[in-house]
Amino acid sequence: MQFRLTWAAMLTVFSVASGAQPITEPRIIVAISVDQFSADLFAEYRAVFKAGLRRLQTGIVFPDGYQSHAATETCPGHSTISTGAYPAHTGIIANEWYDQSLARSDKKVYCAEDPTVAGSSSTNTTASAQFLKTPTLGDRVKAADSRSRVVSVAGKDRAALMLGGHAIDQVWFWNGKSYVTLRGVVSPAPAIIDQVNAAVAATVARAEMPALPELCRSHARAVAVGDKDVGVLHERKAGDWSAFRTSLAFDRATTDIAIGLIRDLHLGSGDAPDILSIGLSATDYVGHAFGTEGAEMCTQLLGVDDNVGRILAALDGTRRPFIVVLTADHGGHDLPERIKMRGIPDAERLDAALLPANMSKQLAAEFNLPDPVLLAAAPFGDIYLARTVPDGLRSRVLAAARAHYLAQPQVAAAFTADELRRMRVPSGPADEWSLAERFRASFDPGRSGDLLVALKPHITPIVGVDSYLATHGSPWNYDRRVPILFYQPGISGFEQALPVETVDILPTLAALIHLPISPGEIDGRCIDLDGGIGDSCGDEHR
Ligand SMILES: [Zn+2]
Repeated sequence: MQFRLTWAAMLTVFSVASGAQPITEPRIIVAISVDQFSADLFAEYRAVFKAGLRRLQTGIVFPDGYQSHAATETCPGHSTISTGAYPAHTGIIANEWYDQSLARSDKKVYCAEDPTVAGSSSTNTTASAQFLKTPTLGDRVKAADSRSRVVSVAGKDRAALMLGGHAIDQVWFWNGKSYVTLRGVVSPAPAIIDQVNAAVAATVARAEMPALPELCRSHARAVAVGDKDVGVLHERKAGDWSAFRTSLAFDRATTDIAIGLIRDLHLGSGDAPDILSIGLSATDYVGHAFGTEGAEMCTQLLGVDDNVGRILAALDGTRRPFIVVLTADHGGHDLPERIKMRGIPDAERLDAALLPANMSKQLAAEFNLPDPVLLAAAPFGDIYLARTVPDGLRSRVLAAARAHYLAQPQVAAAFTADELRRMRVPSGPADEWSLAERFRASFDPGRSGDLLVALKPHITPIVGVDSYLATHGSPWNYDRRVPILFYQPGISGFEQALPVETVDILPTLAALIHLPISPGEIDGRCIDLDGGIGDSCGDEHR
């Protein structure tokens, strides 16, 4: 009799020999993205977590994961987690970009919209994943076996759609007043949605003074920024929907929906694996509103710890094998006023001369052209030459634009689209990539700007202090580095300090369910999660 060991059996044999517990083929794959949860925040807080983020650290810990590309924003970041591809291939080059061929008068597009919808604009959008060029894990699983369920819930539409993809059974996201799904979906909402929406409305109607956790006392030091005091907790006023997004209640509500869907859809109970994506968005709003080093962020991260613990408990309750990966769409940077006080004196806000409108005016005068000459959603990243610039002048105007940017003391580099187009999409350790390589990884010749601008490190690209105080989006490591944690109950944990990438998540998870991916099809590589001599990637992913 011929005896042939299956890959799974061999993995078990190897793992027993090495003393490591083999990974059980999951029936539920859960991806949690904590928006703006940088590797720096993980390092600062990892020892104090008590709940879910503590439990995840008994699994496989990559404290130095990379969103490798330059455009460290929410939409591109989520697209890499779910597809295994860089934004250069997902087509999600930024949260917003310009498409001057659009029929509508607003030429700016939002990454998670469908601009062909009549009456839409970049601020009045119809949520859609149609800009995403590459399949997500959910899309692949669904194509392999239509019995798989794909569920995605997040605090932002772009997080829910970029994580979930094109073939989502249930997608829910916050629209500013309630959790909603895609326009035109007629099937009745699961009961949990109405319950959570009602509970949120009741919460927002009441004022609330958040309690300062004991662990966050040392972070509670007020810093004056304009007329605001940040660093200490403030009351959320009754009826303030915007402040809801920076309160603990926001991620709690998103988590409640995720848990309700795990329970009510009986995720993991079918014959094919189910995929659940969860986007916890409040950390990003807290980072933007208050920076990353005050009591607000401390309180928020303890809330994330609690919510992740609740998600794990709900997954335990299914009694089905599951695997969780937790990561972030990008890192973050504290507000320059506090960074300056804490040992980094070169931190500063953007010089208003670099605002796209001001750069554009200068060129319009110089070349005697109608303004705008330049179009850009931000004072860095993708800068577009307006179509109104005549062909005969375009190369001269572009050269002048580049020279003007490079003459600004806050600018580190400016690459033309032609330069990036000629480069290969980078590979190798992401921490060693050149600045140009980082830009190449989020460059799409059909969508990216004519000029791509990098500000110097520690420049916050916000001039005033009226709304957002701090942000991310730069090609620097504080915005690129994110933790990547894999966890299954009973897994033999290990920590690897060397860098891996968020594009590695999809092939790593696909291997666990024997979902084939052709070599060269994506940018990521399968990470072997077996800490011993076994190999969770198997031959088919080598
Ligand atoms: Zn953000």
